[in-house]
Amino acid sequence: MISARREGEIDLDDDFLAEASMDELRRVALLKARGSLPPKTRNVLYRAKSVAIHNYVLRRANGRCEGCMAAAPFRAGDGRPFLETHHTTRVADGGPDHPRKVIGLCPNCHRRAHLSQDSEIFNASLIMKLPKLEAAAKRATTHS
Ligand SMILES: [Zn+2]
Repeated sequence: MISARREGEIDLDDDFLAEASMDELRRVALLKARGSLPPKTRNVLYRAKSVAIHNYVLRRANGRCEGCMAAAPFRAGDGRPFLETHHTTRVADGGPDHPRKVIGLCPNCHRRAHLSQDSEIFNASLIMKLPKLEAAAKRATTHS
């Protein structure tokens, strides 16, 4: 869909981002904000990138927690398996907002990553899992 449109005409609204393929979500997630963009356009792009990463990671997780591998504990109101996205490197600490840095977790694993006694070790184990999860997702995605 993106490739069929001219650059600059990518539709970045929530409906598009809900229906987009994993490849399209990855491409939106990796769009670069050019310094010359007006602030309003930069904000739209920043938000779209965040939504794309969130949707992409949940699609990659495919209904299973990427931490403990258990099935999502329940279905959300929209019928989708409920998982949360966790930034393994805090964006505020300069960590890039990138699919390779974000993991889909069940609420227990997400709380563990933030609040447990072993949160640093657990988070490090998640960081080590991400390259494998990303490689598998890329293999599963058809590139046109
Ligand atoms: Zn879990």
